[in-house]
Amino acid sequence: MLYDNLSVNAAGHLAIAGIDACDLAAEFGTPLYVLDEDRVRANCRTYVEAVRTYLPDGSMPLYASKALSFKGIYPVIADEGMGADVVSGGEIATALAAGFPASKLYFHGSNKTDAEIAYGVENGVGCFIVDNTNELAVLSREATQRDVVQNILLRVTVGLDPHTLAAINTGRVDSQFGVPIETGQALAFVREALATPGVDVLGFHSHIGSQIFEPDSFCDQVDRLLAFACDVRDELGFVASTFNLGGGFGVPYVEGDPKVDIAGNIAAIAEHLRTGCDHASYPMPRVLLEPGRSIVADAGTTLYTAGGTKTIEGYRSYVMVDGGMTDNPRYALYKSAYTVLNASRASKPADFACTLAGRCCESGDRIAEDILIQQPTRGDIIAVLTTGAYNFAMSSNYNRVMRPALVMIHDGKARLAIRRQTVDDLLALEV
Ligand SMILES: *Cc1c(COP(=O)(O)O)cnc(C)c1O
Repeated sequence: MLYDNLSVNAAGHLAIAGIDACDLAAEFGTPLYVLDEDRVRANCRTYVEAVRTYLPDGSMPLYASKALSFKGIYPVIADEGMGADVVSGGEIATALAAGFPASKLYFHGSNKTDAEIAYGVENGVGCFIVDNTNELAVLSREATQRDVVQNILLRVTVGLDPHTLAAINTGRVDSQFGVPIETGQALAFVREALATPGVDVLGFHSHIGSQIFEPDSFCDQVDRLLAFACDVRDELGFVASTFNLGGGFGVPYVEGDPKVDIAGNIAAIAEHLRTGCDHASYPMPRVLLEPGRSIVADAGTTLYTAGGTKTIEGYRSYVMVDGGMTDNPRYALYKSAYTVLNASRASKPADFACTLAGRCCESGDRIAEDILIQQPTRGDIIAVLTTGAYNFAMSSNYNRVMRPALVMIHDGKARLAIRRQTVDDLLALEV
């Protein structure tokens, strides 16, 4: 099994954190998102402990909400001692509704609206990651109007091209996120921010991308950010107390994908930064990290019910499931690889070559192509692993397919955390 929380039980079924996947499907229906809360907690602890061990006081991992934002995740994140980053009024509202402390929210976004900026300041969001100078002006107005001094970080791009998909690479000079160092605009951005009333600049933020496996990319990022910080110090006399290095640690989706040693990577980044700071006589900043995928991805499994199997003579066989791109658009968007198995026959050999197709009227609606699974018949439960990140978060009602329910497993028990969408929910907004 790809992960150690998965097993095959005596009935020959897939078990998730010890619970029979077919029982979960029978009780809660399909498609169903299953989130192993204990695995989320274990992932949080890996970060929290490594940050505590290797980085200065005040350093903290922040959960990148966009990977999976719903009320049930925030108490887990808070409990494990992490902050959270949020990218919209909706994510802020969800975190606050779950009782998450506003002071531990970090508000991102390349185009925050005036209303969102006001909402964030009004509700005491701990820190804004300011993306550009337009935003700075609005934030200054909203903060000064309320007699608030808002803590901010300035988002810069370090001009790095990690080996990842273009669609999830955000650190290049030519990016809609942040202000580039290379063109000199980032320095001007800092100068302007330092002269702006109502804000207190704590430091810099940079995020180089997602699904990154080599620590070298993060070390390059640290070098570039530190070199920039030194230029800022020399030019403007400002010394940053905080570096936010963003998220991006990769997660294995299929057998053979590398597994990132998160603690080892954090140790390497910390060591690298410390050496660089010593060299430049720069005070070691506190470091924020923003893991999203690596907190929730491998804790999630999606369960579907297989419909028919269709064999196109001379081509391939399709297994059709009762969900697809509406609950998991990642294959359609990025051709992301997934591990699939027949949860009803998990002890049988995986020797049936097929393509897993969703139910939407769209040829691109596939979850995995040319895979081997245990041959299913109609009614079998099909499990797709590693769906905790960017699945529910990216789900849609295309074809008016209703969003699945989500259950969380904790201490050997499953509880409903998000109920299945109904036709009434679907129609509720239509006047
Ligand atoms: C997406 C994103 C993250 C999280 O990235 P993961 O690859 O899920 O860890 C963190 N910070 C920012 C600014 C992001 O855009």
